[in-house]
Amino acid sequence: MVTDTLVIHEIYASIQGESSFAGVPCTFVRTVGCDLRCTWCDTPQAFQGGTRLARSEVLERALSFGTPLVELTGGEPLLQPGVLPLMRELCDAGRTVLLETGGHRDVSGVDPRVHKIVDLKAPGSGEVAQNRLENLRYLTARDELKFVLADRGDYDWMRGMLVIHELDALGAKLLASPAFGLLDPRTLVEWVLADKLPVRVNLQLHKYVWGADAVGV
Ligand code: SF4
Repeated sequence: MVTDTLVIHEIYASIQGESSFAGVPCTFVRTVGCDLRCTWCDTPQAFQGGTRLARSEVLERALSFGTPLVELTGGEPLLQPGVLPLMRELCDAGRTVLLETGGHRDVSGVDPRVHKIVDLKAPGSGEVAQNRLENLRYLTARDELKFVLADRGDYDWMRGMLVIHELDALGAKLLASPAFGLLDPRTLVEWVLADKLPVRVNLQLHKYVWGADAVGV
Protein backbone atom coordinates (compact mmCIF):
# COMPACT_ATOMS: atom_id res chain seq x y z
CA MET A 1 0.00 0.00 0.00
CA VAL A 2 1.07 3.55 -0.68
CA THR A 3 0.93 4.30 3.06
CA ASP A 4 3.26 1.44 4.02
CA THR A 5 6.48 3.31 3.22
CA LEU A 6 7.82 6.84 3.54
CA VAL A 7 10.77 8.63 1.97
CA ILE A 8 12.74 10.06 4.85
CA HIS A 9 15.56 12.58 4.90
CA GLU A 10 16.53 12.14 8.53
CA ILE A 11 15.31 11.15 11.98
CA TYR A 12 17.10 12.78 14.91
CA ALA A 13 16.67 14.25 18.36
CA SER A 14 17.14 17.95 19.11
CA ILE A 15 15.15 20.70 20.77
CA GLN A 16 11.99 22.03 19.21
CA GLY A 17 12.94 25.32 17.60
CA GLU A 18 10.03 27.40 16.39
CA SER A 19 6.65 27.03 18.05
CA SER A 20 5.14 27.31 21.53
CA PHE A 21 7.05 24.05 22.21
CA ALA A 22 10.43 25.77 21.53
CA GLY A 23 13.17 24.45 23.78
CA VAL A 24 11.50 21.10 24.51
CA PRO A 25 13.51 17.96 23.60
CA CYS A 26 11.96 16.49 20.49
CA THR A 27 12.53 13.77 17.90
CA PHE A 28 12.24 15.05 14.34
CA VAL A 29 11.09 12.95 11.41
CA ARG A 30 12.01 14.93 8.31
CA THR A 31 10.28 13.75 5.15
CA VAL A 32 11.56 14.32 1.62
CA GLY A 33 9.85 16.50 -0.96
CA CYS A 34 8.15 19.88 -1.08
CA ASP A 35 5.96 21.40 -3.76
CA LEU A 36 6.68 24.99 -2.65
CA ARG A 37 9.86 27.04 -3.02
CA CYS A 38 9.77 29.71 -0.32
CA THR A 39 12.43 32.34 -0.97
CA TRP A 40 13.83 32.00 2.57
CA CYS A 41 13.56 28.19 2.84
CA ASP A 42 16.36 26.80 5.01
CA THR A 43 15.81 23.11 4.25
CA PRO A 44 16.25 22.77 0.47
CA GLN A 45 18.30 19.64 1.15
CA ALA A 46 14.99 17.91 1.91
CA PHE A 47 13.55 18.62 -1.55
CA GLN A 48 14.89 15.35 -2.98
CA GLY A 49 16.89 12.22 -2.24
CA GLY A 50 16.39 10.47 1.08
CA THR A 51 15.71 6.82 1.84
CA ARG A 52 12.48 4.88 1.42
CA LEU A 53 11.70 3.12 4.71
CA ALA A 54 8.88 0.91 5.89
CA ARG A 55 6.47 2.93 8.04
CA SER A 56 7.02 0.45 10.86
CA GLU A 57 10.75 1.22 10.78
CA VAL A 58 10.14 4.97 10.79
CA LEU A 59 7.88 4.49 13.81
CA GLU A 60 10.45 2.35 15.61
CA ARG A 61 13.27 4.82 14.96
CA ALA A 62 11.15 7.81 15.96
CA LEU A 63 10.26 6.13 19.27
CA SER A 64 13.83 4.95 19.92
CA PHE A 65 15.08 8.39 20.97
CA GLY A 66 12.65 8.33 23.89
CA THR A 67 11.53 11.96 23.74
CA PRO A 68 7.92 12.63 24.75
CA LEU A 69 7.64 15.01 21.79
CA VAL A 70 7.87 13.89 18.13
CA GLU A 71 7.57 16.27 15.18
CA LEU A 72 6.85 15.49 11.54
CA THR A 73 8.53 18.08 9.38
CA GLY A 74 10.04 18.41 5.92
CA GLY A 75 9.95 19.28 3.19
CA GLU A 76 6.20 19.00 3.27
CA PRO A 77 5.11 15.95 5.32
CA LEU A 78 1.54 15.93 3.97
CA LEU A 79 2.78 15.07 0.47
CA GLN A 80 3.25 11.50 1.68
CA PRO A 81 0.03 9.61 2.56
CA GLY A 82 1.90 7.39 5.04
CA VAL A 83 2.38 10.39 7.33
CA LEU A 84 -1.29 10.26 8.46
CA PRO A 85 -1.18 6.69 9.87
CA LEU A 86 2.34 7.31 11.21
CA MET A 87 1.10 10.26 13.27
CA ARG A 88 -1.80 8.14 14.55
CA GLU A 89 0.61 5.42 15.62
CA LEU A 90 2.88 7.91 17.38
CA CYS A 91 -0.14 9.27 19.29
CA ASP A 92 -1.20 5.70 20.15
CA ALA A 93 2.32 5.16 21.54
CA GLY A 94 1.74 8.02 23.96
CA ARG A 95 3.83 10.66 22.23
CA THR A 96 2.86 14.31 21.88
CA VAL A 97 2.95 14.76 18.11
CA LEU A 98 3.57 17.97 16.19
CA LEU A 99 3.04 18.43 12.46
CA GLU A 100 4.86 21.28 10.74
CA THR A 101 3.14 21.96 7.42
CA GLY A 102 3.38 24.70 4.81
CA GLY A 103 -0.36 25.31 4.98
CA HIS A 104 -1.08 24.58 1.31
CA ARG A 105 -2.08 20.91 1.80
CA ASP A 106 -5.37 19.63 3.23
CA VAL A 107 -5.08 19.09 7.00
CA SER A 108 -8.61 17.70 7.47
CA GLY A 109 -7.41 14.08 7.74
CA VAL A 110 -4.85 14.75 10.48
CA ASP A 111 -5.54 12.88 13.74
CA PRO A 112 -7.21 15.36 16.14
CA ARG A 113 -4.63 14.51 18.83
CA VAL A 114 -1.85 16.02 16.68
CA HIS A 115 -0.77 19.61 17.26
CA LYS A 116 -0.77 21.17 13.81
CA ILE A 117 1.68 24.02 13.17
CA VAL A 118 0.35 25.52 9.97
CA ASP A 119 2.06 28.26 7.97
CA LEU A 120 0.24 31.09 6.29
CA LYS A 121 2.75 32.13 3.64
CA ALA A 122 3.27 35.90 3.46
CA PRO A 123 4.04 37.64 0.14
CA GLY A 124 7.79 37.73 0.84
CA SER A 125 7.86 33.92 0.67
CA GLY A 126 6.88 34.05 -3.01
CA GLU A 127 4.17 31.47 -2.26
CA VAL A 128 1.28 33.56 -0.94
CA ALA A 129 -0.99 32.33 -3.73
CA GLN A 130 -0.68 28.75 -2.44
CA ASN A 131 -2.29 29.35 0.97
CA ARG A 132 -5.17 26.93 1.53
CA LEU A 133 -7.52 29.06 3.60
CA GLU A 134 -9.98 26.13 3.96
CA ASN A 135 -7.48 24.75 6.48
CA LEU A 136 -8.41 27.50 8.94
CA ARG A 137 -11.67 25.73 9.79
CA TYR A 138 -9.75 22.68 11.04
CA LEU A 139 -7.61 24.61 13.54
CA THR A 140 -8.37 24.45 17.26
CA ALA A 141 -6.77 25.67 20.48
CA ARG A 142 -4.38 22.72 20.18
CA ASP A 143 -2.93 24.14 16.95
CA GLU A 144 -0.66 27.00 15.89
CA LEU A 145 -0.78 29.32 12.89
CA LYS A 146 2.63 30.62 11.89
CA PHE A 147 3.58 33.68 9.83
CA VAL A 148 7.21 33.94 8.72
CA LEU A 149 7.83 37.61 7.98
CA ALA A 150 10.59 39.01 5.77
CA ASP A 151 9.76 42.72 5.89
CA ARG A 152 7.20 45.40 6.77
CA GLY A 153 5.06 44.42 3.80
CA ASP A 154 4.72 40.90 5.20
CA TYR A 155 3.89 42.29 8.62
CA ASP A 156 1.14 44.52 7.21
CA TRP A 157 -0.22 41.55 5.26
CA MET A 158 -0.35 39.46 8.47
CA ARG A 159 -2.11 42.29 10.28
CA GLY A 160 -4.73 42.39 7.53
CA MET A 161 -5.21 38.60 7.62
CA LEU A 162 -5.80 38.74 11.38
CA VAL A 163 -8.66 41.16 10.84
CA ILE A 164 -10.19 39.77 7.63
CA HIS A 165 -10.29 36.16 8.85
CA GLU A 166 -10.79 36.96 12.57
CA LEU A 167 -7.86 34.66 13.30
CA ASP A 168 -7.78 35.53 16.99
CA ALA A 169 -11.20 33.86 17.35
CA LEU A 170 -9.90 30.50 16.06
CA GLY A 171 -8.29 29.78 19.42
CA ALA A 172 -5.08 28.58 17.74
CA LYS A 173 -1.86 30.25 18.85
CA LEU A 174 -0.70 32.92 16.41
CA LEU A 175 3.04 32.91 15.81
CA ALA A 176 4.90 35.81 14.16
CA SER A 177 8.41 34.76 13.16
CA PRO A 178 11.04 37.09 11.69
CA ALA A 179 12.71 35.39 8.72
CA PHE A 180 16.23 34.78 9.98
CA GLY A 181 18.70 37.36 8.66
CA LEU A 182 15.97 39.31 6.84
CA LEU A 183 13.91 40.97 9.57
CA ASP A 184 15.41 42.17 12.85
CA PRO A 185 13.48 40.51 15.74
CA ARG A 186 13.66 43.76 17.70
CA THR A 187 11.91 45.63 14.90
CA LEU A 188 9.15 43.03 14.79
CA VAL A 189 8.65 43.27 18.56
CA GLU A 190 8.33 47.06 18.27
CA TRP A 191 5.69 46.73 15.53
CA VAL A 192 3.72 44.13 17.50
CA LEU A 193 3.77 46.26 20.65
CA ALA A 194 2.77 49.40 18.75
CA ASP A 195 -0.22 47.63 17.19
CA LYS A 196 -1.06 45.53 20.27
CA LEU A 197 -1.31 42.47 18.04
CA PRO A 198 -2.46 39.21 19.70
CA VAL A 199 0.54 37.24 18.41
CA ARG A 200 3.48 35.45 19.96
CA VAL A 201 6.82 36.61 18.51
CA ASN A 202 8.61 33.40 17.74
CA LEU A 203 12.37 33.08 17.17
CA GLN A 204 14.09 30.14 15.48
CA LEU A 205 15.74 28.99 18.69
CA HIS A 206 17.95 26.35 17.04
CA LYS A 207 19.71 29.06 14.99
CA TYR A 208 20.69 30.89 18.17
CA VAL A 209 22.03 27.64 19.65
CA TRP A 210 23.79 26.14 16.60
CA GLY A 211 24.17 29.07 14.24
CA ALA A 212 22.49 30.47 11.14
CA ASP A 213 22.99 27.29 9.11
CA ALA A 214 20.99 25.12 11.52
CA VAL A 215 18.02 23.70 9.64
CA GLY A 216 14.41 24.58 10.38
CA VAL A 217 12.61 22.42 12.90
S1 SF4 B 1 7.13 24.92 2.60
FE1 SF4 B 1 8.84 24.64 4.02
S2 SF4 B 1 10.18 23.10 3.06
FE2 SF4 B 1 8.77 23.85 1.46
S3 SF4 B 1 9.91 25.50 0.43
FE3 SF4 B 1 8.65 26.47 2.05
S4 SF4 B 1 9.99 26.57 3.86
FE4 SF4 B 1 10.93 25.11 2.41
